[in-house]
Amino acid sequence: MENKIKINRRGEKFIKFFKHYGYYILAGAIILAITLTVVLTAPKSSNLVVPPNNETPAEPVDAYALTFTNPLEESNIVKNHSTDKLVYDTTLGWFATHHGIDLVSEKSSDVLAAAEGVVSEIYTNDLEGTVIVIKHNDVYTSKYGSLNSQVEVKVGDKVKKGQKIGTVSTSAKNEVATGAHLHFELFMDNEDVNPADYLSLENK
Ligand SMILES: [Zn+2]
Repeated sequence: MENKIKINRRGEKFIKFFKHYGYYILAGAIILAITLTVVLTAPKSSNLVVPPNNETPAEPVDAYALTFTNPLEESNIVKNHSTDKLVYDTTLGWFATHHGIDLVSEKSSDVLAAAEGVVSEIYTNDLEGTVIVIKHNDVYTSKYGSLNSQVEVKVGDKVKKGQKIGTVSTSAKNEVATGAHLHFELFMDNEDVNPADYLSLENK
């Protein structure tokens, strides 16, 4: 008996509720129906972005337009790039060309990838110390010499622009008089260019 009363009360409550809010429920249902119709009949976005197969693909990004970040934070050039005239080399005690720039920094010893790319070579020899080579694209390659032998990357690693790859040291015997520094070279189409022209350094 008590149960029946409870059920009846529930039914009354429902009818009261519907009388109060019926229009809102109906309006809600209509809005939902309209929304579903619009969503389901709208053209699929993938049809808009994927070009038909017979169209030529988008132009590739210009490899020459790659931009570089300073491979050593707040660094100063202590030796400039010089390939067309000989400069006196304090370590070697004679005049020689310099196919890169030597950078020192009081702020950090971290050597950073100048742009995104793939580590293509890591080696150590007496003259250059520990060296990392990064191929950025078909145009640019950068080379980081006089590094500490404990490097942060291995051959084949993909690196991001500004990623730490190693630290500076005095490992390059041919430049030991400079102290701990980074010897940085940049190649465009396999020819070395003046890296200072591609970086925003304070004392070019
Ligand atoms: Zn150097």
